[in-house]
Amino acid sequence: MTSANVSTQPSLAAADPEIAALIADENLREHETLRLIASENYASQAVQEAAGSVLANKYSEGYPGKRYYEGQQVIDQVERLAISRLQALFSADYHVNVQPYSGSPANLAVYAAFCKPGDTIMGLGLAAGGHLTHGHGVSVTGKWFHSVSYGVRESDHRIDLDAVRALAKEHKPKLLWAGTTAYPRTVDFAAFREIANEVGAIFAADIAHISGLVAAGEHPSPFGLADVVTSTTHKTFRGPRGGMIFCKPEHASAIDKAVFPGLQGGPHNAATAGIAVAAKEASTDAFKAYAKQVVVNAKHLAEKLVERGFRVITGGTDNHLILVDVTPKGIAGKPAAQALDRAGIVLNYNAVPFDPRKPFDPSGLRIGTPAITSRGMGIAEMDRLAAWIDLVCQSPSDEALLAKIAGEIKDMCNAFPAPGIRLGKGQA
Ligand SMILES: *Cc1c(COP(=O)(O)O)cnc(C)c1O
Repeated sequence: MTSANVSTQPSLAAADPEIAALIADENLREHETLRLIASENYASQAVQEAAGSVLANKYSEGYPGKRYYEGQQVIDQVERLAISRLQALFSADYHVNVQPYSGSPANLAVYAAFCKPGDTIMGLGLAAGGHLTHGHGVSVTGKWFHSVSYGVRESDHRIDLDAVRALAKEHKPKLLWAGTTAYPRTVDFAAFREIANEVGAIFAADIAHISGLVAAGEHPSPFGLADVVTSTTHKTFRGPRGGMIFCKPEHASAIDKAVFPGLQGGPHNAATAGIAVAAKEASTDAFKAYAKQVVVNAKHLAEKLVERGFRVITGGTDNHLILVDVTPKGIAGKPAAQALDRAGIVLNYNAVPFDPRKPFDPSGLRIGTPAITSRGMGIAEMDRLAAWIDLVCQSPSDEALLAKIAGEIKDMCNAFPAPGIRLGKGQA
């Protein structure tokens, strides 16, 4: 592929040409392909500069004003700024912890704050679009706690709130999760609040995928309803990799202690600065327009796929992602995802609800619009995308066709420079 002579990082290229070349290659890959993995995005150059800064050199176990090491003159200000910006964006009534290393550690902190091993917890099952950390069997959250999963209705593939209520009444969970990774519809946080009240559970909303949409008012907010809200910072929110936890003030001490010293040592201060920058960006009109377009694009693409004979789960989408069963096209999810990758369309194969096929060879694809929308793509590009996906699914082993589509996609990508992508001389 490329080499260190196209690196835009001269110090790195001099010290470590191999890594510099690999980073240059990844820059190019992210530039010239359509990135449709629903959890991915493009962090801005500003976010990357903060997240890659000298702030990472500093140890600061503890919280602003209460640290275990000296020299926190700058770090305390960074962390306070991140917190106050997040409160301004989401809710001033919630305490904020920005120290979790990522989304999964943020969720573990919620368990550590409210549960003892063996306690009953409830979450959406993985096969229905839930996350591993909501009690799946291979996760410690399913091994160390008594996990009860709820699912989606067989008739319409929407979360079955009657079943959630019945299961909650039967099992009396200590902790009730509402949050999804592969669910194309809005989550009814108010209904979960009611159910949690009826059984005395702590209600935790995990908005890892949708926090950018929530910040922009493009998805109903769990704030004011949930006892705790967790999120990643790098999905629709478009920040650096990280996690954050919001909680009602009465839980602040339990959450803070669970994160440090319960689970972690020193916070990743450079990531905290990146989160502060992302929160500032998310308060702009440009971000609101992006979030709105993410949903418009997803709805439009879903419609076009339906028109082309794909089985779109729930018939469409309310958010940033589409779950589509490709088997009506005579192909399974995995070979479709692999052929699409060769054509420059990068997404993941995914089980669909009640999938008759195996998890490693499922029926569906998960398609997300956040990253391509961050590049400024809109309706016209969604039309082209639907046509390309259809062509590839019909002729997945026609390598000449895949190469031709990859070339067309490169041309289109050249017209939509992505935030934070730095190409070397001659790369585009
Ligand atoms: C992505 C995700 C997580 C985990 O985040 P990581 O940063 O990958 O650990 C947790 N919950 C949900 C709902 C997610 O989508």
